[in-house]
Amino acid sequence: MQTNFSLAALADPHMRESEKILRSCVHCGFCTATCPTYLLLGDELDSPRGRIYQIKDMLEKGRPASAEVVQHVDRCLSCLSCMTTCPSGVHYMHLVDHARAHIEATHTRSLADRAMRALLATVLPNRALFRLSLLGAAMAKPFAPIWARVPVVGARVAAMLSLAPARFAPRSPAEKPGVWKAPASERPARRVILMNGCAQPVLRPQINEATIRLLNRLGVEVVIALDEGCCGALVHHMGREERALAQARQNVDAWTMVIEDGGVDAILITASGCGTTVKDYGFMLREDPRYAAKARRVCELARDVSEYLATLDIAPSRPTGQVVAYHSACSMQHGQKITDAPKQLLRAAGFKVKDVPEGTSAAARPASTTSCSPRSRAG
Ligand code: SF4
Ligand code: SF4
Repeated sequence: MQTNFSLAALADPHMRESEKILRSCVHCGFCTATCPTYLLLGDELDSPRGRIYQIKDMLEKGRPASAEVVQHVDRCLSCLSCMTTCPSGVHYMHLVDHARAHIEATHTRSLADRAMRALLATVLPNRALFRLSLLGAAMAKPFAPIWARVPVVGARVAAMLSLAPARFAPRSPAEKPGVWKAPASERPARRVILMNGCAQPVLRPQINEATIRLLNRLGVEVVIALDEGCCGALVHHMGREERALAQARQNVDAWTMVIEDGGVDAILITASGCGTTVKDYGFMLREDPRYAAKARRVCELARDVSEYLATLDIAPSRPTGQVVAYHSACSMQHGQKITDAPKQLLRAAGFKVKDVPEGTSAAARPASTTSCSPRSRAG
């Protein structure tokens, strides 16, 4: 795609990166075939190619985001299916991240929108506040139909209340920083950091508890670092760039302390959306001289737990005779390009695995598109 950015605009490294991405798009439109919003709405402006054109126009002309562009970019689910499909390797994720930051800086949303986004950006990344809000939501859940009749924000509050779990697990010991040693070994052959993050340990603490038990059984020592937290994805997707970078720096500092104090084989993440973001830290912090190298090291060590487990020598179990359906998350198959490892592990655990037909879109291209791949690694 031809671009016409001014030299002044190209002095900004974010703009330079976006221009490079825009130039790689050849307008072929293959991506439209696997974009859920285009398939649902049938509007080119709600397709990846349509959004790319709108973002190009907005950035190239240095315009504040119009209400129309905001609507179409807001509708993007960041499923990254378009990146799997694109034959030209267009890094849509970095482009839409830049567009969202531009929207946040130049567009004034309605008061209701601003209030809702501020609430989500404050509560969700903070485990204590999120747990408190779930407690409040569980009590308010029966009143959701009344909320639905309140003008302006009522429908959204009612939708959130209907999604809130009626009860949730107590705080898990795995949420606290600490070291979980493998029982059999004084000096473990393997040592990993496990990311806790924000919402997952509140909603499903069993996931990391089971991960620790399994890794310990396989002789792997697990460390949960002091002061780690939300990966930053939530605010990043809202265009709150500085806040996202601050959260990324906090995790980089927390994990660097562990890496420099004894070394680790990997940083394991059990939520694939968080994994996609942590694997992008090298790119996100590439312009920060204090953090660029540290972030790149974190990014190179980051693994989805299934990727790491697939490297261990796990003896296959006897067939259980049970059939399971595996539905991969978008962030797993498109963000991280992990498609086989989870299924291999399930098969090794004795299950027969079936794919959910509509759970996969276009065939994954062989090259990884996460930021730590050589093609897109910062620097
Ligand atoms: S990220 Fe998903 S929703 Fe957004 S443009 Fe790409 S395919 Fe469509
Ligand atoms: S498939 Fe890739 S090159 Fe083709 S229009 Fe979509 S983003 Fe552009």
